[in-house]
Amino acid sequence: MALVNMRDMIYHAYKHNYAVGAFDLVSLDFLEAVIGAAESCRASIVLSIAEPHFEHYDYELLLPAVEAAAQRASVPVAIQLDHGSSLASAISAINRGCNGVMLDASRQELPDNITTTRAVVDMAHRCGVPVTGEVGYVAGYEGEGALLHPGEAAFTVPAEAKAYVERTNVDFLAVSIGTVQGRMKGRAKLDFQRLKLINQAVDVPLVIHGGSGLNEEQFRKLPSMGVAKINYYTALSDVAAEAMRRRTKANPDGSFIELKRDVKEAVGEEVERCLRLWGSAGRAAEVLTQCRP
Ligand SMILES: [Zn+2]
Repeated sequence: MALVNMRDMIYHAYKHNYAVGAFDLVSLDFLEAVIGAAESCRASIVLSIAEPHFEHYDYELLLPAVEAAAQRASVPVAIQLDHGSSLASAISAINRGCNGVMLDASRQELPDNITTTRAVVDMAHRCGVPVTGEVGYVAGYEGEGALLHPGEAAFTVPAEAKAYVERTNVDFLAVSIGTVQGRMKGRAKLDFQRLKLINQAVDVPLVIHGGSGLNEEQFRKLPSMGVAKINYYTALSDVAAEAMRRRTKANPDGSFIELKRDVKEAVGEEVERCLRLWGSAGRAAEVLTQCRP
């Protein structure tokens, strides 16, 4: 049983200057790859299911598998609803086994964002479940992620972040500092000065969405500036698709099983690269002894 309290897990990372990876799952291949990578480098992991993906799979069917994987895992695991859109979806996710919720009301005006987030926090905290809120807006640029996050990006304003955290009581804060949802063209320019000011203004762990496309130096810097959770999906989707393209090229008549044969390994390798880069590799034992189950 390695399902652990997500608040404890993320605060352990926050205190020790590393970041836990939260990887969005879209199939059993992804689930097995992510858990396998976490176990092979002894890292805590957040198994994430994103509400915008629910049109592609039935999450009521996937969640029991995610929970079974968490229970069986030898490393600390949390299960989060990612980009939850409403109080109703947060309640549904918690009832079905999520022990963390990310509420995304970031496209609303600040006062409305605060009201919506506060209602989810009040409900979730009564269930012992921590909540990630977002202030500022991480928009999409290209690919699937862009379609799901339309419009212009809005960078997080430190004073607004402070007001938002105080009034909503969120456990973790997702910020917008230059990353994009989905695929990136060229290299993301991150506003580290802004991140520093946000980190000074609030006393909760920070979260980065749209991590795909950042370089190693940027990834290494984030955990030293209050970032304790990084959400990551697009790069996994891309390596999985690339693995299938390679197989299809070599064997155009290949069966479904044949064409997706390398997907698990490709996704697992990318997850492991991230876990090492973000400093969570090798931390599993400490987290297991220090966090509430
Ligand atoms: Zn996201």
